[in-house]
Amino acid sequence: MTSTTDVLVIGGGATGAGVLRDLARRGLRGLLVERGDPGSGTSGRYHGLLHSGARYVVSDPLAARECAVENEILRRIAPRTIEDTRGWYVQAPGDPDAYAAGFAAACAAAGVPCEERPVGEVLAHEPALDPDLQRAFAVRDAALEPWELIEANLADAIAHGAEVRRYTSVVAVERAGRRILSVTLADERSGSTGRVVPRLVVSAAGAWAGRVAALAGVRLQILPGRGTMLVFAERLSDAVINRCHPPGDGDLMVPVHTVSILGTTDVQVSDPDDTTVERAEVAALLDEGERLFPALRERRLLRAYAGVRPLYEPPAEDDDGAGDGASPGGRMIRRSHVVIDHAARDGVDDLVSIVGGKLTTYRLMAEQTVDLVMRKLGTSARCTTADEALPGQEPARHHWLGARLAAHEAAGGGDADLICECELVTRPELDAFLDARWPCSLDDVRRGTRLGMGPCQGGFCTFRAAGVLADREARRGASPEAVAGLAATAAEAFLEERLKGLRAVAWGRQLQEALLTDGLYHGVLGLPRSPAVDTSPETPDAVG
Ligand SMILES: Cc1cc2nc3c(=O)[nH]c(=O)nc-3n(C[C@H](O)[C@H](O)[C@H](O)COP(=O)(O)OP(=O)(O)OC[C@H]3O[C@@H](n4cnc5c(N)ncnc54)[C@H](O)[C@@H]3O)c2cc1C
Repeated sequence: MTSTTDVLVIGGGATGAGVLRDLARRGLRGLLVERGDPGSGTSGRYHGLLHSGARYVVSDPLAARECAVENEILRRIAPRTIEDTRGWYVQAPGDPDAYAAGFAAACAAAGVPCEERPVGEVLAHEPALDPDLQRAFAVRDAALEPWELIEANLADAIAHGAEVRRYTSVVAVERAGRRILSVTLADERSGSTGRVVPRLVVSAAGAWAGRVAALAGVRLQILPGRGTMLVFAERLSDAVINRCHPPGDGDLMVPVHTVSILGTTDVQVSDPDDTTVERAEVAALLDEGERLFPALRERRLLRAYAGVRPLYEPPAEDDDGAGDGASPGGRMIRRSHVVIDHAARDGVDDLVSIVGGKLTTYRLMAEQTVDLVMRKLGTSARCTTADEALPGQEPARHHWLGARLAAHEAAGGGDADLICECELVTRPELDAFLDARWPCSLDDVRRGTRLGMGPCQGGFCTFRAAGVLADREARRGASPEAVAGLAATAAEAFLEERLKGLRAVAWGRQLQEALLTDGLYHGVLGLPRSPAVDTSPETPDAVG
């Protein structure tokens, strides 16, 4: 089947979702295709920080300023997706005095709000921090929920006439000289293919942008930079905690919902799908994290995961000198985004790529991309995405950690309705998600509801959620064999995904939890044993 559209957007991360929203609001017909579930790429595997900009004030003041401006815009247009934790930059013992001495001035020069406060103030709020901190600066960091943000952008785009196809990959691009004639799409679930004829293609494929460009015969050098993060089973701090030193590994702790996330590392990889976590990275992160939180190794580590940065390496003649893009070393490559018009650069008139950047700046990246699209299509309309709130938002009503518990108690409380106790996901919430999104996997449910993201990592909610799926299929008249098969397949796939995050951190109490989960699902329910569960683990000297 062949369809037409004004603009085909490839990639359903924050950037693609923001581009689709902006296009739709400016009156262009857009179709977004995402090879998986929206937010299943880097946007769903990031650190969770709404940058204040302070991290980049010394290394990249332009990126710092962009973050500061977008931080305030997101607080206005998407307050529900933000927990306003605030943030601290703290000078730990041994951190360079010179960096801290120039920090407040660098923030002021870049337009990043920052205030030095007495060390005693931060220690009073954050007792798990090292008591020997030297200096402390308060900044406007916060925690940002990616999936709700992406879905809100998509919902607004759809309300303005756009179309979204989930689990749909771009597999081929047909070109004649400078023009793109059509793009072939594959439905990842049914295997069927179709064609779309767009007036213009925007690639927002993140770390995969090089591969998408190659389909159109264009060389785009993306250096995927893998970053690993550790998830702790509790909030180790109320606010975001950064080390006040030149940005490095393991120097940032972000409180995200019920957990805390320490990160990151930066390892150059050749494959953007490579999200393997090495035990040595876990050890290195814990070593660095202990410089902020001395008792870190006593805290329960839930899982480790990695995401891949879409770092763009411009050809030498493209480098405008604004950043530090010439070096192939991970943290040295420019973190700002680049909008690429492939007409001028590669002789392909109908292709635009948006690469690099941060989740915090997704809206600005989308605005600049759509500005170029409008110019190329010979039309104009003002961008409104910074002024108009996303759907479902109330002015200044930020996310509150206690909201789910309060809602559950207001509705009468009780455990009977809870499918996931760790994250307080109720049966009505699960049903509402399935009504809106079926067919979907339990991993899609996780992104939409946080099912399975708490301390038991799916141990006690997977069989309940799989049971709900089975119940719905049975009520639709499916055979008992089909119902049982669906529940088993869904549970197995979800547990495998959850337990994967345990491989590099399976020791102590979390290993006990994994073995309990294995006993429940393999021993009692007879599902195949997950390869993630190593029943004869070595004591990892490096990390234990
Ligand atoms: C470890 C780490 C920590 C980070 N921490 C932060 C942070 O705390 N704060 C912050 O602001 N930023 C952070 N970032 C940066 C931020 O996460 C990314 O810049 C941002 O998420 C990129 O979004 P995106 O939409 O461009 O890419 P993605 O979210 O990766 O979206 C691209 C999408 O394209 C899809 N796709 C690929 N190929 C195809 C195809 N052929 N057909 C269809 N779809 C396709 C992929 O499935 C993917 O979903 C971090 C990045 C990493 C790696």
